Amino acid sequence: MGLCWKRSFKQILKRALFFAVYYSGVLHLLIFILKKFKKRHCASILFYHRFSQDLLDGYQLPHLVISEFKKQMRHIKKWYSVISMDELEGSLANENDFTSPSVAITFDDGFLSNYTLAYPILKEFGLPAAMIYLSTGFIGTNNAPWVDELMDILSTTKSSTLIFPELLGDEVLNISTRHQKRVAVTKLFNIMLRLKHKQKIIKMQKLSKMLGVDEIIKENAERKMLNWDEVTEMSNNSISFGAHTISHPTLSKMEISEAKREICESKKEIEARIGKKVRHFAIPNGKKEDFSEKLKKYCKETGLKTVVSTEPGLVDGKSDPYFLRRILPPPPMYVFACELARYMFFKKIS
Ligand SMILES: [Zn+2]
Repeated sequence: MGLCWKRSFKQILKRALFFAVYYSGVLHLLIFILKKFKKRHCASILFYHRFSQDLLDGYQLPHLVISEFKKQMRHIKKWYSVISMDELEGSLANENDFTSPSVAITFDDGFLSNYTLAYPILKEFGLPAAMIYLSTGFIGTNNAPWVDELMDILSTTKSSTLIFPELLGDEVLNISTRHQKRVAVTKLFNIMLRLKHKQKIIKMQKLSKMLGVDEIIKENAERKMLNWDEVTEMSNNSISFGAHTISHPTLSKMEISEAKREICESKKEIEARIGKKVRHFAIPNGKKEDFSEKLKKYCKETGLKTVVSTEPGLVDGKSDPYFLRRILPPPPMYVFACELARYMFFKKIS
């Protein structure tokens, strides 16, 4: 309890500091000076998922309200060099650091809102060098990766409590408020992450039946992911595409031959659809334990040039191209701007 209080106090203090540094203009002055006088720079790879016009129940980061994305894009365009994953890979191949602080923009999974909401903003700011990693099995369908299905179930249900002994034991979760729904999503996500892929799917079906939303979700099912026409249109307008498996499984939790098939087939399908080579891959879920040395080697053999994770951190000339770290951009704007600058100029590269 004491520790928790101390942590939240520290959090409030940090936010207050960020607020002051951002709105006083100190941050911008600092970025200006550091850009001018620092000789060696690094790069940050930002990663986004799904966007909405307004905040929805049960949704949390990496889901983002589009107005926040717009502010973030305006900021990075003004203060940093925005580069493509190909340009980033070029620097890594030559073991070079970056001549200016650089940012690459990436999106995971291939959500429809990448096209309807984010793409117009990228065009407006002239930032077309973004990378979208596709889980090809969902493209053009009403289904989404399991984490988003989980958020959809919690956001749709009218139930106020969740009893699910198979996953939660005796615990009863309250799920009536927006905050409670988010806590429940995090809890279920962490438990289900440890399950094998097939088991995960079974538990999800049980959960949606139990919370009385399976029929509602089916009836109201709208397409959540991009279709191939939208992918092709964006590909013809400077957006790049990378592979992110077929079904978004935890690769380390399946047979190695199956994991290899997930990587290779998603790469091949995108290449066939857009008529361009796919050189970049994103690990589903993206933590260290979700990947392996064997799979790294396999990615190299199939011609992939970079692999991105979701482990937080920066990229410099010495980074491993087959396990690049990324940054999840947090709202609101002043936190994003300060956190990004903190990473770019003050963090040690691990
Ligand atoms: Zn993903």
